[in-house]
Amino acid sequence: MENIEKLFGLLNEHAEKFEKEQDITLLEGLLDGLEAWLYGEVDFSQKDATKEDIRKAIQIAILKGMRKGSQPNHQMTPDTLGLLVGYFVEQIFAERLENEKISIMDPAVGTGNLLLTVMNLLDGKVEATGVEVDELLIRLAAATADLTEQPISLYRQDALQDLLVNPVDAVVCDLPVGYYPNEEVAIDYELCPSEGMSYAHHLFIEQSMNYTKDGGYLFFLAPSHLFDSEQSKQLHKYIQKHAWIQAIIQLPDSIFANKALEKSIVILQKQAKELKAPKEVLLAKVPNMQNKQALALFFEKVKMWKEGK
Ligand code: SAM
Repeated sequence: MENIEKLFGLLNEHAEKFEKEQDITLLEGLLDGLEAWLYGEVDFSQKDATKEDIRKAIQIAILKGMRKGSQPNHQMTPDTLGLLVGYFVEQIFAERLENEKISIMDPAVGTGNLLLTVMNLLDGKVEATGVEVDELLIRLAAATADLTEQPISLYRQDALQDLLVNPVDAVVCDLPVGYYPNEEVAIDYELCPSEGMSYAHHLFIEQSMNYTKDGGYLFFLAPSHLFDSEQSKQLHKYIQKHAWIQAIIQLPDSIFANKALEKSIVILQKQAKELKAPKEVLLAKVPNMQNKQALALFFEKVKMWKEGK
């Protein structure tokens, strides 16, 4: 904890100084500090700081910058959710991870916090790709990946257009929610509705499937209302045709500021000729994190599901 506090203090001090002196935002001041550290112009390193210490200190500094800046697309996936996603990736790929690396893509990588939380958990076993349209966020992701020595290839572009990415073993993605404005691009998607605008979160699911190997897995942080909208019939059909639902895990309400923002973890597997649909779909609700007994029961349920696979 001491390392995280000290490092956060140094980063924040640098960010605030540059915010004032150069008339930039706090988040831009933070990026300046991270890049200066990376290029050896300043030294913020702490003795014995782990990759997680560095990620967490940067995460707190980014959160502070985002709160001050209030740009609607500036949202970061918090630790609690990243760790849960990482736990499921670890459970599903447990056998392969014993002796090989896996490839993971996050097509809405943002600050990189979700992807790096998963990568630090599976340290040394993941090669990753991230795509993000926002320049400031992707530069924050690039600097944090370098400082934590995690191998991520990053592409700044609209993730719903063609990607220069080989199919991956797994996708992790905290889906951007809302309408996708570029109708010329949306028209090529199976999930483009015949009338009205496309949902970005639906198109992200389809695009993620396009870049996943047959039999690979997709771990989405998706709005809890994913299967209740007027376009959800089409989404259901698409998923039935191309994927198997492996799990739907409701997250504790207490994590979210209001009901409209509630999310679930949806785990899909891309269909493959040589594979069969899962025997059992895991439907579970993560209890309140403070309730240790209920949490133990939840993890027991996941363990039984995994053993039955
Ligand atoms: N997991 C990220 C993190 O930990 O920082 C947060 C992801 S946030 C919920 C969704 C991200 O999708 C935002 O950073 C937003 O800029 C990005 N995004 C939205 N539409 C996009 C698009 N068409 N192509 C690429 N990125 C997009």
